[in-house]
Amino acid sequence: MKGRVPAKITGKPLVRSLLNPTALNLLKKEKKMKVKVTENCMGDRRCNDLCPEVFEYDEDELKSMVKVDEVPAQYEALVRQAADECGADAIIIEDD
Ligand code: SF4
Repeated sequence: MKGRVPAKITGKPLVRSLLNPTALNLLKKEKKMKVKVTENCMGDRRCNDLCPEVFEYDEDELKSMVKVDEVPAQYEALVRQAADECGADAIIIEDD
């Protein structure tokens, strides 16, 4: 056993020491992304074009709005891109 310290000696729980990082991430509580559009929105609809599954245009308010409570994982990257590219810095991402 030279070179490898048994888990109980290192103080780490044995199960954790046996799982790879990917498996550990699956066991952790999944973090849900939430996003909101602030009143700074200037209504150019860029976020709508980029990710219509999450953003939609409110014709009455002339601003974009978020149409989901939590961002589905497959759209998280697009939402981050929309926030980065929003010229009004109106997209706020909240990770739990
Ligand atoms: S990209 Fe920003 S400014 Fe443009 S519609 Fe979306 S939230 Fe509003």
